Amino acid sequence: MMPSEDIKTGAESACLLKVTGLHRSYSMARSSLWRKPEPLQALRGVSFTLKAGQSLGVVGESGSGKSTLARLVMALDTPTAGTVQLKGRDLHRMSSHELRSARRDFQMVFQDPYASLDPRMTVERIVAEPLCTLEQPPAREAQRSQVQTVLSQVGLRAQDADKYPHEFSGGQRQRIAIARALITRPQLIVADEPVSALDVSVQAQVLNLMQQLQRELGLSYLFISHDLAVVQHVCDEVIVLYQGQIVERGTPQKLFSAPEHPYTQALVKAAPRLPAQYR
Ligand code: ADP
Ligand code: MG
Repeated sequence: MMPSEDIKTGAESACLLKVTGLHRSYSMARSSLWRKPEPLQALRGVSFTLKAGQSLGVVGESGSGKSTLARLVMALDTPTAGTVQLKGRDLHRMSSHELRSARRDFQMVFQDPYASLDPRMTVERIVAEPLCTLEQPPAREAQRSQVQTVLSQVGLRAQDADKYPHEFSGGQRQRIAIARALITRPQLIVADEPVSALDVSVQAQVLNLMQQLQRELGLSYLFISHDLAVVQHVCDEVIVLYQGQIVERGTPQKLFSAPEHPYTQALVKAAPRLPAQYR
């Protein structure tokens, strides 16, 4: 395993996200009357840093703790131990008021574009929703124009704002979800398996879009996937999670060409579309 310094970022001021010693355990149901329930350790001492403008991939099989990590970084869940700092401030020690204003800086894209968009809301309302959680939401007219801007950034049309989610394909829905994440002009987007529910051909389009947005807007992604081949399109560095722990980290090229941990070796073997430059 490579030392954590490999992902560290030189100037501390450029550090966007710093995760230190993150633990999350869940109490399990009691299996019998005389046996004490053992907590399930979903994350066990995860640490990494992410520089502004850089992207970090998180790969691991189902149950390895990826979504738990995403929820903790999004302050949707509380760690059992450890800290998550965004631009030097501990997210889990903020007041609800402070968290509200900090939320502008980090947004999330979920896996399932069918479940994550409310079918009763128009695209305009869905995309504008994060604005309503801000301290000072924009006026109606300004909101409409911001929605138009992000829709065009994700390759949708202005008139799509008045439609409902069922009028769109899976790939288009994920574009709507990305537009919603962009509307507050965040620096960090946490994407939890953003293309896993999509057909392979559509996956490539959405990945290209995410890559393009990253370049144009200087975004950082915490990009979660069970598929190493997917994260290498978007990420400068990758961490490999196994049973709640980081077992390896490095550039995608390094993990593909010289995986050290047996679990990473298995992931590389399982990667379905090994890109030509890494063969
Ligand atoms: P992944 O996203 O990599 O598939 P998760 O973070 O969802 O993994 O889950 C990691 C482990 O934590 C799994 O064993 C899962 O069953 C457990 N887990 C996740 N959320 C909860 C919860 N709310 N209560 C109990 N166990 C949970
Ligand atoms: Mg998950």
